[in-house]
Amino acid sequence: MPASVVWDPALLAYDLGGDHPFNPVRLELTIRLATELGVLADVPLLVPEPAIEEELHRAHSPEYLEAVKRAPMTGAELAHGLGTEDNPVFAGMHESSALVVGSTLLAARRLAAGESTRVVNIAGGLHHAMRDRAAGFCVYNDCAIAIDWLLDHGFDRVAYVDTDVHHGDGVQAAFYTDPRVLTISLHQHPFTLWPGTGYASEVGAAGAEGSSVNIPLPPGTRDPGWLRAFSAVVPALLAEFRPQVLVTQCGVDSHEEDPLADLALSVDGHRAIYRTLRELAEKHAGGRWLAVGGGGYQLIRVVPRSWTHLIATVLDRDVPPDTPLPLTWVNDVLRAAPSAELPAAMTDGRPTDYRPWGDGVDEPVDVAIRDTRRAVFPLHGLDPDDPRD
Ligand SMILES: [Zn+2]
Repeated sequence: MPASVVWDPALLAYDLGGDHPFNPVRLELTIRLATELGVLADVPLLVPEPAIEEELHRAHSPEYLEAVKRAPMTGAELAHGLGTEDNPVFAGMHESSALVVGSTLLAARRLAAGESTRVVNIAGGLHHAMRDRAAGFCVYNDCAIAIDWLLDHGFDRVAYVDTDVHHGDGVQAAFYTDPRVLTISLHQHPFTLWPGTGYASEVGAAGAEGSSVNIPLPPGTRDPGWLRAFSAVVPALLAEFRPQVLVTQCGVDSHEEDPLADLALSVDGHRAIYRTLRELAEKHAGGRWLAVGGGGYQLIRVVPRSWTHLIATVLDRDVPPDTPLPLTWVNDVLRAAPSAELPAAMTDGRPTDYRPWGDGVDEPVDVAIRDTRRAVFPLHGLDPDDPRD
């Protein structure tokens, strides 16, 4: 099977509790929706093992690991970001976080062994975790650990594209000095959203200039603007960088209905993004694509539909947008959440056509496009002002 899916209900144990927005029900509802739609028919699910400490040390300090393990006893380890509103301490925190890392590592191992050319793991994508501290609902940074592992197992050039509404700061920080990893993050502008980083001027440290790329988008950006910015920056850089594998963090908190942020994408936009990522992996990364989840806090109306499209795209089983939501799924959801207003189909009815940058018409996202191109294109031998580059 060239494309694979990592899933195990044990991943639902990464549960920050109470009414924390990072609720694992979003994963459960996604897998159920994908199953009901037949997307997962005959697809063997890859079952992960927890990452071992040696693997976690690829991105985290031994002191931090000890703090994570200790926290359920001590209640908080504030020096390491644990016990805050964003990152509450929960039972089994180390174990369930290590399993999330193990799930993305399993995907990386499959790619390195040539057993799969594409793997999707919606439980992964904890892109904010830092070397020494938890941040933004993320305890261990599965993305950074898997990329670091790939670099030790036959890969010299890894591209990481982060489409979450928040800046992929933890992954950027992990590879800021490493020219072997090209990190590209599209996110809501840092003036207007946590974590307040991800400016176009963050281009990578000395020796790795140009390996960190940031596209900060104005609040309210819709599908056509987002896709215009993406197409003006990402394909040219991937063509020049020639990655051996494309790793993508596919957070869906960029949706208009997401309660935590202010971009205005739709499920249709998300679907268009995944299809573009697949095409770019085929064109520039030898077809190798490791896709993980990430943010997404409209738990019922958005995440299950968007990530079902993600899984379907990875498997080449694209779901047409006008596909109705299966009644069995709808009824299951309504039993648990009787007041939920569910959409009727796998679409928000939004057009995803966009005008490519360089058409002579100014759009609000063009400031971001110009800033990012001018910051990094010359470092890759590309002309920032020539739309053909
Ligand atoms: Zn996010």
